[in-house]
Amino acid sequence: MSAAQPTEGAVHVERGAATGTPARRLPRRLLWITLVTVVLALVPLLAGNFTVSLLNDIGIGALVALGLVLLTGIGGATSFGQAAFVGIAAYATAWLSTTQGLSPWIGLVFALGLTGLSALAIGMLTLRLGGHFLPLSTIAWGLSIAMLFGNVDALGRHTGLSNIPALAIGSFSLADPRAIYYLIWVLVGLAMLFSHNLLESRPGRAIRSLRGGAILLASVGEDAYRVRLTLFVTAALLAGLAGWLYAHMNRFVSPSPFDVRASIEYLLMAVAGGLGSLAGALVGSALVLILKNGLQDVLPLLTQRAGQLEAVAFATLFILLLHFARGGLMGFVRRFTRRRAAAAPTREPAAPVAPLPHRKLPERGTPILSVTGAVKRFGGLVAVNDVSFEVKAGEIMGLIGPNGAGKSTMFNLLTCTLPMTAGQVRFLGHDIAGMPQRKVARLGLARTFQHVKLRPHMTLLDNVALGAHARTSAGVLKAGLRLDRDEERQILQEAQRQLDRIGLGDRAHELAGSLPLGTQRILEIARALAADPVLLVLDEPAAGLRRKEKMALGELLRRLREEGVTILIVEHDMDFVMKLVDRLVVMNFGSKLVEGVPAAVRADQRVQAAYLGSVV
Ligand code: ADP
Ligand code: MG
Repeated sequence: MSAAQPTEGAVHVERGAATGTPARRLPRRLLWITLVTVVLALVPLLAGNFTVSLLNDIGIGALVALGLVLLTGIGGATSFGQAAFVGIAAYATAWLSTTQGLSPWIGLVFALGLTGLSALAIGMLTLRLGGHFLPLSTIAWGLSIAMLFGNVDALGRHTGLSNIPALAIGSFSLADPRAIYYLIWVLVGLAMLFSHNLLESRPGRAIRSLRGGAILLASVGEDAYRVRLTLFVTAALLAGLAGWLYAHMNRFVSPSPFDVRASIEYLLMAVAGGLGSLAGALVGSALVLILKNGLQDVLPLLTQRAGQLEAVAFATLFILLLHFARGGLMGFVRRFTRRRAAAAPTREPAAPVAPLPHRKLPERGTPILSVTGAVKRFGGLVAVNDVSFEVKAGEIMGLIGPNGAGKSTMFNLLTCTLPMTAGQVRFLGHDIAGMPQRKVARLGLARTFQHVKLRPHMTLLDNVALGAHARTSAGVLKAGLRLDRDEERQILQEAQRQLDRIGLGDRAHELAGSLPLGTQRILEIARALAADPVLLVLDEPAAGLRRKEKMALGELLRRLREEGVTILIVEHDMDFVMKLVDRLVVMNFGSKLVEGVPAAVRADQRVQAAYLGSVV
């Protein structure tokens, strides 16, 4: 009897295909990839030596630029030192295969190992630096590593290392540029595929959320520093792979191709192609290297100082790009395709998978959160002064008070976003005061933000899926190799379920940034729910909402209570809270004024006075 359903589904997809939907965009992308692959495969058969060598360089540059697209474009950490990682790998394999006489394949393992370890060490030292200090530090280590190559005897100082053996697969030598060409481009293809898989996964969502700030990631139970470190090492390994290829292709290494000037050239590739897109790495590398070759042909005809003029030409290009085409070449292409993507309807429903495991919720009425004697001082100002209260499982508890009463500060104390000056917070039997926020999140405390923290360029579905981060475990390697698909299906199913729960299920594939502010707040609630929380803490969810939106929010929260979710709501709007909560605490000037059921609180003289602005 259900035999008709799959057919219907298929008809739906086909119909979608006729109107420019994801079902059609995928083949279009595949078409492009196939076209590029076929052209690249034919080049060595048709083109001259010069073109083949240029393409070899482009492929190697694309590997480095790909790492930079991930690290800088998507992760938001600018590196002016990427060429140093290319150099570490190139020198590592050069040294091992020349002085030690070992196979280049052992050199590959050694080169990647050394590059990875160096990146780990440098990352641990520098990735906690905020603001401009991080990019500045990359210049520092970029310079010093390149300098090191030129000053170590074993690495041949400024003359470098020569007679590096060519690669060979079995007895088949890759000494000919036309032979190593295929290896380079297969590796570029695999690296692209790996990066693509990575971005569409659990660790990928965390990477794409890095620009949202450390607190956002902590709220879903992840450490932003760890995510950035993993990304930094991944990008360095791509540079390392490029360095290994470089050494065995050129059969010679010297310090200058790995200095800061080279790093900037790699960065220029990523910017020129488009920092927001993986294909941008390829396009950018081609653009920069073809241009560089062109300049090297033309400039000597114009001047004796061609080298310096080349630098000027690149600097000009950089500035023009930053002024007129921040999205790079791929940015233009994307602007063109985005318009069509906006009309994309939801995908056909996937086959159901086993749900993610749920937490055992505490019995209704048992205390789950208790705050005792909480104090927070900001210098001389006591923002929270000896506040105590309890939240019981299954209730909606309100924390209200006039502006400046200390509600947000209290909120930050109990989510461990701010350290307490004195007092205790117990959550499910754990003493959480002083615990990192991400650990508290993992215990089952989920929050939303007063100033919405969503990733506007991610879909609703991806934003909510980020909420399930701590319930799942796939890492970069698993995701890149697509071994995470079962778990990923579970995550997306859970995200879809939460979207359905808040009534946005049919807009799952729209971008979060396209939603009005009120709906964005509700989307944050879905993200919090995807963590399967024991306690949901909301900071002023009704702020800035219109009357109808407020009513819908109240409706949603009541429904969640019926489903067994415990909610603590911090709110300024008294009317909204009174109709909603079971109990509430009123704060004023940092202290607890009253605690009780809504009717009693409303009747209280002190509360009325506080809200009128004149305390009795
Ligand atoms: P509410 O959320 O109830 O409006 P807040 O908790 O934001 O109140 O603020 C309580 C008091 O603490 C205010 O006087 C505010 O100026 C002060 N305050 C809040 N955060 C800080 C901070 N980081 N540094 C100094 N003072 C702060
Ligand atoms: Mg506030």
